[in-house]
Amino acid sequence: MKKYLFLIIAGVIFSCKNNSVDNGKLNIVTTTTMITDLVENIGGDHINVQGLMGSGVDPHLYKASEGDVSKLANADIIFYNGLHLEGKLVEVFEKMGSQAKTPIALADELDKSTLIGSDYFASNYDPHVWFDINYFKQFATKVTLVLSQQDPKNAASYQTNKNIYITKLDKLQKDAVSVIETLPKEKRILVTAHDAFNYFGKAYGFEVVGLQGLSTATEAGVQDVQKLAAFIINRNIKAIFVESSVPRRTIEALQAAVKSKDHNVEIGGTLFSDALGNKGTNEGTYIGMFMYNVNTIINALK
Ligand SMILES: [Zn+2]
Repeated sequence: MKKYLFLIIAGVIFSCKNNSVDNGKLNIVTTTTMITDLVENIGGDHINVQGLMGSGVDPHLYKASEGDVSKLANADIIFYNGLHLEGKLVEVFEKMGSQAKTPIALADELDKSTLIGSDYFASNYDPHVWFDINYFKQFATKVTLVLSQQDPKNAASYQTNKNIYITKLDKLQKDAVSVIETLPKEKRILVTAHDAFNYFGKAYGFEVVGLQGLSTATEAGVQDVQKLAAFIINRNIKAIFVESSVPRRTIEALQAAVKSKDHNVEIGGTLFSDALGNKGTNEGTYIGMFMYNVNTIINALK
């Protein structure tokens, strides 16, 4: 009897380690928490999703661990942002490209002529595209297409999930606009630790200034801090913002520089930029994160 029990337990452990083989579900690996959330929404119960990056993780600096490499090698599909957001993973993905399962860079599918250019990235584009809800909807369409091609028997289910999710994103767009419209246009200046919010600014009429530039890979210098402090004083900006995936000291240095010139600027709160909040919380979803940011920004700048 004991021997049989052992065999059953061993079998369970073995099958857990080989999900893609044993339960017939697609094994998907994603990078950022935004993409993980999106893929979970479209795939529902039909897929296994493993997100490499957790909450508060900075994708610009993230390096693949040995465990990540084996997850990537065993994946049926890999979804990532692209446009060199995941700067240190590019090499790993390039190696994967020579294998049968090509990783899919969702942002690379967007119409490049509509993107914001940037000299900071090898892609020549600002990769923080998820802050325009319309681009995120296009991510959803691409994910649905790929899942349906790889797993045709569940295609109808993926399509239904996508339709439900798009309806929620449309509602998010309306909710965001109605809150943002309460802030006068001249007060729409967003100062944060790094330039993650350019697409947000373009969509909702904010002037966006980041202390660190587009990537967190280079630290802000003393001159950058002084220049931005002068800008904040000149434009009479009420609040600046910390980001969840960038060290707080960056923005605290800026606040100190403003104070040293006998002015005051509040820290308006922490925004989620390149990663969602903790899983299981409202901000742990793309939709919850987006509204949290909007409310935080508007409340502090009003
Ligand atoms: Zn970023």
